Amino acid sequence: MEPICPIGLPCASEISALFSPPSPLQIQEYYLNLLSSRGCIGISVKQDGNFGKGVYADMDFKEGELVLKDPMFVGVQHSLNKIDCLVCSFCFRFIGSIELQIGRRLYMKQLRANESHGCDVGNSSQHFHGMDSSDEEENTQQCTSGISKTKVPLPEGVVESLMNGKLVLPCSEKFSLLPAVPCSGGCGEAYYCSMSCAEADWESSHLLLCTGESSDPARREALLKFIKHANETNDIFILAAKAISSTILRYHKLKAVSLEKQVKYDTSCFSNDRSLSFLLEAWRPISMGHKRRWWDCIALPDDVDSSDEPSFRLQIKELAFESLQLLKAAIFDKECEPLFSLEIYGHIIGMFELNNLDLVVASPVEDYFLYIDDLTHPNKEEAEKITQPILDALGEDYSICCEGTAFFPLQSCMNHSCCPNAKAFKRDEDKDGQATIIAQRSICKGEEITISYVDEELPFEERQASLADYGFRCRCPKCIEEES
Ligand SMILES: [Zn+2]
Ligand SMILES: [Zn+2]
Ligand SMILES: [Zn+2]
Repeated sequence: MEPICPIGLPCASEISALFSPPSPLQIQEYYLNLLSSRGCIGISVKQDGNFGKGVYADMDFKEGELVLKDPMFVGVQHSLNKIDCLVCSFCFRFIGSIELQIGRRLYMKQLRANESHGCDVGNSSQHFHGMDSSDEEENTQQCTSGISKTKVPLPEGVVESLMNGKLVLPCSEKFSLLPAVPCSGGCGEAYYCSMSCAEADWESSHLLLCTGESSDPARREALLKFIKHANETNDIFILAAKAISSTILRYHKLKAVSLEKQVKYDTSCFSNDRSLSFLLEAWRPISMGHKRRWWDCIALPDDVDSSDEPSFRLQIKELAFESLQLLKAAIFDKECEPLFSLEIYGHIIGMFELNNLDLVVASPVEDYFLYIDDLTHPNKEEAEKITQPILDALGEDYSICCEGTAFFPLQSCMNHSCCPNAKAFKRDEDKDGQATIIAQRSICKGEEITISYVDEELPFEERQASLADYGFRCRCPKCIEEES
């Protein structure tokens, strides 16, 4: 049944104000601020009437040169990946120590194996089949790794010693990580690389999304239900919750600053118009990116027949509604009511769907074992006496990196080309979740900077089919040449 949003009608005028497209001046200002806050030089974002936004070079870039680094607007680590990698919940850098990373991974795997006797993790009745390909990959990964025969268990006590720091692995000091700072809200879910990341996350969204003891019990229970639902269906809902939370918190900050000024000048109380103007201001980052509702823009999975498309889209809409009701029970804020309408929720998730950008951070555990492997005689043999049994226990999982989904505001402005001049590429020094864009060949001043959204080595038809999911047909020089 078509879900009916109870907020849609009473907030219709506010919602339409949120949807009114930003002016060219607002767009220009927003991206100028964004670029300067990131310390980006030599690039600009331009709005083009036909193709939307694009990123342009304002100077020459040499092949291999860094074009930009783009911190995420919001990001989330995939829930199953949390077993394998302990990372900062804000910048996604690996934290703790090599020993803790390994010990924790082995401990959690063991715990899960005991709980689930193998593979009911990917229970397809709970997972919304075919919705998110990365989810499926994870499930298969989970299934094969959970019962992998190549793994040899470690003697008792080793995992514990790795976790409590009593066992120090050879040469691990060369791969030292920042100690894990637990969330001060006491949720036991969020850990950080530093107090500054902890504070930044708290201020941007975690204040509303923390499930720690200090939060209101009713809200906490509702929040746990919302998170469980997202983990079982699609973690894109967690990104949306972060985006809504950060908008609410920005709104209150803008209002507080303004109230402070008002007290100074002793003017009369707040009008509704003023409130709406703060909400619009707080909404700005999303207003720059959203285009279509999730249930309208999500690609039809291969296993869904086109005749079932309407019912598929309705199902997606119902799922979003279900998730929204859970989120509303947890963090509803009357002053920001329009943000809890299905229209707004659909657009926020749609923005993430269309810019579904992978969050990947390479694992220092992999680097560590590669380093040990590269040692020379007799150091190598000496070290391997200790590390080999651990590597055997980890099996193929030793190299698992941090994986998630994030929204990068600048990268998402970059247009696609099948012969791009730039690429998203992490260098050795890029150890956190920021997107790093590198020039793939020399780029001249004035040229548009493009990346490929798909594997550009694929044949023409396959590329076009993948790009259709993004809602366009590619007309890049390579496609024009191959089409004729
Ligand atoms: Zn951090
Ligand atoms: Zn917390
Ligand atoms: Zn193309």
